[in-house]
Amino acid sequence: MSSNRALYEQVILEHNKKPRNFHEMEDADRKVEGYNPLCGDHFTVYVKLNGDVIEDVSFSGAGCAISKSSASVMTMLLKGKTKKEAEGLFLKFHTMVTSSPDSPVDEDDLGKLRVFAGVREFPVRIKCATLAWHSMLSALDGKDESVTTE
Ligand code: ZN
Repeated sequence: MSSNRALYEQVILEHNKKPRNFHEMEDADRKVEGYNPLCGDHFTVYVKLNGDVIEDVSFSGAGCAISKSSASVMTMLLKGKTKKEAEGLFLKFHTMVTSSPDSPVDEDDLGKLRVFAGVREFPVRIKCATLAWHSMLSALDGKDESVTTE
């Protein structure tokens, strides 16, 4: 086990314990519920938009450490980003978590998202890690509905 990996696990546990932007948003422009029946993760993602820019984002709900910390990191990264930037970030994230566990991770390119590289060894966890993102993209697409990983 590399020291990087221990560090990443620490970041995930820390976000799970103290998630950022973890609250409901009364005046959200859009909210989308995400459900991962395989694990029982169930979150709602709230978005406030200013034109094409994500002015504010938050989430509420409950789930495993991976799903909760992934949602927390996502809200931190997406505040102030455009819809297009958010989609670009998700694409990078999704490509990483679905790549083979021994393929290299571009740490500079992925930034904070690299802490989730460990889920590549546990395919069932990929749905946990991407749940909030799927909800977010659905919200950005203007779909005011629930998403499920199934
Ligand atoms: Zn989960």
